[in-house]
Amino acid sequence: MLTLDAAIAWLRGWAAETAAHEQYLTALDAAIGDADHGANLRRGTAAVVAQLDAQPPGGVREALTRAGLTLVSSVGGASGPLFGTLLLRAGAQCGEAEALDGAGLVAALRAGEAGVRDRGRAEPGNKTLLDALVPAIEAMDAAVATGAPLPAAASTAAIAARAGRDATAQLVARRGRASYLGDRSLGSIDPGAASVALLLDALAAALD
Ligand code: ADP
Ligand code: MG
Ligand code: MG
Repeated sequence: MLTLDAAIAWLRGWAAETAAHEQYLTALDAAIGDADHGANLRRGTAAVVAQLDAQPPGGVREALTRAGLTLVSSVGGASGPLFGTLLLRAGAQCGEAEALDGAGLVAALRAGEAGVRDRGRAEPGNKTLLDALVPAIEAMDAAVATGAPLPAAASTAAIAARAGRDATAQLVARRGRASYLGDRSLGSIDPGAASVALLLDALAAALD
C-alpha cells in the first residue's frame, strides 16, 4: 500500500535522485533544450522537501497535492507546471483514502497523466515526459491486474519508464523547446522522460 509514510519517502527519494542526477539531466537538456532541466527540478524538489520538513502532511492527498503546488510555484521552466500538475491531479484522485492499493495508485497516476496531457497538449510519441510516464503506468496496471504485489508492480513500472526514456532518443520532438530543433532532436534522450524514470525509481524504492 502507498501509505502516507511511503508517499513522503517517495517525494524525498525523488528529490535525492534528482539532486544526485542533476548534471546528467542538465546535460540531456543542453543537447536539445536550454540546459536548465537539472537545476529546475533540483530546485523544485528541494522546495518540496523543505515544505515536508516545515509542515508534515496529514494524508496522502495532502502530501501529493502540496508537493504539486510547490513544484508549480517554484520552477520557472515547463517542467514545474507539468510535474506539478502530475502530482496535484494524482493527489486529488486519492480523495480521503488513508493509503492506496495497486488499483488506487494506478488510478492516481492515470489522473496525473491526464493532467499532463491537458496542460502540455502533448501525446505519447511527441518526445516528452509522457513517453516514460505512459508505458510506466501501463506496466503497473498490467502487473496489478495479474495480482502482483504493489512493490513488484512498481519495480516493473520503473523498468518500463527507463525503457520509455531510452526510446525517446528515436523520437522527433513535437512539443516543448526541443521541438524547435525538428529532426535534429533525434538521437537525444528527452530530459523530462529521464526525470520520470527517477520519479518511478523513487516510487519503487519507497514501496519496497
Ligand atoms: P524548459 O523547456 O522550459 O526549459 P525544462 O528543461 O525544465 O523546461 O523541462 C523540459 C522537459 O519538459 C522536456 O524534456 C519535456 O519532457 C517536458 N515538456 C516540455 N513541454 C512539454 C509539453 N508540452 N508536454 C509534456 N512535456 C513537456
Ligand atoms: Mg530546459
Ligand atoms: Mg528553461
